[in-house]
Amino acid sequence: MSAVTERHVLVLNRLWQAVNVCTVERALTLLFTGHAAVVHQDGENNFSTFSFHEWRHFSDAAGYAEPEAVKSISLRIRIPRIILLLFFDRMPAKEVKFTRQNVFERDKNTCQYCGERFDRKELNIDHVVPRQRGGLTSWTNVVCSCIECNSRKANRTPEEAGIRLVRKPKKPRWRPFLEIQFARSHDHSWRHFLDLAYWNVELGEEN
Ligand SMILES: [Zn+2]
Repeated sequence: MSAVTERHVLVLNRLWQAVNVCTVERALTLLFTGHAAVVHQDGENNFSTFSFHEWRHFSDAAGYAEPEAVKSISLRIRIPRIILLLFFDRMPAKEVKFTRQNVFERDKNTCQYCGERFDRKELNIDHVVPRQRGGLTSWTNVVCSCIECNSRKANRTPEEAGIRLVRKPKKPRWRPFLEIQFARSHDHSWRHFLDLAYWNVELGEEN
């Protein structure tokens, strides 16, 4: 990935409120699929919107010397700095992959039985309802567990083992907001939307 595509694009919701930043790649996907339009500043307080096709023409008209463009075999398009979501009030949720890594991430490397934090290598993935008892390998039935709690619980449910879960396991939502700080590396044209954003950004869940 080049430096250009690692840049971030400001995302506005339908009310033109800044709700997120995303990668250029994701912005182009949302644009291409018609979920978003490009917002382009063409005056101090003037912003125009462009559909994918309009933006393509605009990119062409701007000339091939335009440095802020990505090029694929069939397409050369100017990198948007701001996009406007057309149907969503927030970014469409991305699925969080059900991986060992993400289970540790969700449970914050904390044993869900004793509540202690551990190194990852000292943690197991435990089936709350054991597999032999029909427990599924799913977000809602696996938790991080330390080796001690894991062997204490053995092939029993927490109730049978007389231990309680720190927290009921659930499927995490993708961290929806503030993948990077708004304040950092923002474009001049973002500024109009950032004051508003500060107050409108949803705070991430703490638990
Ligand atoms: Zn434990």
